Amino acid sequence: MLVASSRVDVAHYFIAPEHVEDEVDRLRHARDTVAAELSSLQRDLPADAPAELSALLDVHLMLLHDEALTGATKHWIADRHYNAEWALSAQLEVLARQFDEMEDDYLRERKADLEQVVERMLRALSRDPAAAGHEQQTSGFAARDFTGEDPLVLVANDVAPADMMQFKRSVFSGFITDVGGRTSHTAIVARSMDIPAVVGAREASRLIRPDDWVVIDGDTGVVIVDPSPIVLEEYRFRQRQSELERARLNRLRHTPSVTLDGQAIELLANIEQPGDARAALEAGAVGVGLFRSEFLFMNRGNELPGEDEQFEAYRDAVLAMKGLPVTIRTVDVGADKPLDRMSIQELRHEHVLNPALGLRAIRWSLSEPGMFRQQLRAILRASAFGRVRILIPMVAHLSEVKMTVDALARARQQLDDAGHLYAPVELGAMVEVPAAALSLPQFLRHFDFVSIGTNDLIQYTLAIDRADDAVSHLYDPWHPAVLGLIASVIARANAMGKAVSVCGEMAGDSAFTELLLAMGLRSFSMHPAQIPSIKQRVLRADTRRLYGALDRVLSADAPQIEAAAAFAPIAR
Ligand code: PEP
Ligand code: MG
Repeated sequence: MLVASSRVDVAHYFIAPEHVEDEVDRLRHARDTVAAELSSLQRDLPADAPAELSALLDVHLMLLHDEALTGATKHWIADRHYNAEWALSAQLEVLARQFDEMEDDYLRERKADLEQVVERMLRALSRDPAAAGHEQQTSGFAARDFTGEDPLVLVANDVAPADMMQFKRSVFSGFITDVGGRTSHTAIVARSMDIPAVVGAREASRLIRPDDWVVIDGDTGVVIVDPSPIVLEEYRFRQRQSELERARLNRLRHTPSVTLDGQAIELLANIEQPGDARAALEAGAVGVGLFRSEFLFMNRGNELPGEDEQFEAYRDAVLAMKGLPVTIRTVDVGADKPLDRMSIQELRHEHVLNPALGLRAIRWSLSEPGMFRQQLRAILRASAFGRVRILIPMVAHLSEVKMTVDALARARQQLDDAGHLYAPVELGAMVEVPAAALSLPQFLRHFDFVSIGTNDLIQYTLAIDRADDAVSHLYDPWHPAVLGLIASVIARANAMGKAVSVCGEMAGDSAFTELLLAMGLRSFSMHPAQIPSIKQRVLRADTRRLYGALDRVLSADAPQIEAAAAFAPIAR
């Protein structure tokens, strides 16, 4: 397997096999340019310049022409089909490690010289106009059209959710990052790709080397580097088992999702872009419970999608779902999902101390009223093509509810004035801030439905940043306070006759299916790939027998253990 460099400032992409020669030429050309630069620097040195300076330039020239640099870099291009910049950074990493291990101080210090030479070459490459023709993606990493045979794994210090989105079309078969939490948006996008990923693996990008083989056990969060044959065999066996299990579960696709006692359970899909609707239908989803529209706004530089572009994306999702309902959430940017124009540094470190508590989601939309109405108009226009529901993220104050309702009325008026068609749409709120859960009756008066965002509800109830691996051991969906809030939201919504769903990661985790059913939940929204296994749990459940254990689980010191004991025998 392969480990990609974490130098995100350099474009990473695969080149088509027929471009290998051209790419090697780019590398050669960059080397010759740097050689000319260095020679002219040396020639123009003032007569009184210290002799060391000329000697240093000699060293740089020598490193530049060393086979270990350019010769080996060519192999990354020819064998791996890396673009020249990526190949060069990969080779720099290999050489830098060798320098680090040298005993001799003088030689060890030559690493800095090597880095300077490589920097010069990268700069020369970035000035090379030939790059544009071969480049398939420029932001962060990208990987396509790879024709190699070994499965590729990306190992990086961190990957932004927006970059992770670009991997949806890539060849990587697994991800490992040093930082991040299980429900960070990076992890969520990785999960939506249905490939193994481990986030928060601390030193992984430093310890794992290019061309190491790794086993990624996404279920337990374990990464095994250079596994022994016996471990490898064990994991191959498990992989085959899970493929068989998956094939078996996929046969449930057309089976209605009904419990043993006849309760119909709605299984919906979470999607990030219109193209995901296909996977949703294939998995047997009966609608989209959460379309995270903010992903349309990412990787865009300063140019955000306008009304028509948004409308087309929403309409495409609606049409792709063939008459099934599509719940479009208004933009939830901020925290770990910054827009390009709000840099992650800006949000994370410099100006905002607690970005998860900052200008996020509906707060951001209300601070940009023109943009908010533009999105509402685009969503409303899509309603002329199928069943659309609007979902508002992170509501915490009634004033936000009122401003949202006003914005919606104004957007409708604007569409009327412009002669655009739209159909009635239901308005719903995410319940993901404890304040909303605790004052649910007041909120519910203004909404047709609610969707519980357990990812954030856990974060805000337990004061644990969901993207911070340093506290990820405290991020506990089984915490009695979390379970109590979820149970009360479901019960109150049911009592008021309002539809309630769960769209956080708990909905797709089969460890919680019986518990949520016992709480009275009848609608679950999750990554399409999770639908079959949740459906199987539903088909085997008898809600009449589940209710009896609910109070015991909710009042237990260790609800997880209590739930395992109470529900597992019923579910099997
Ligand atoms: C949630 O918070 O549970 C949720 C579904 O929204 P997101 O994960 O996008 O914050
Ligand atoms: Mg959320």
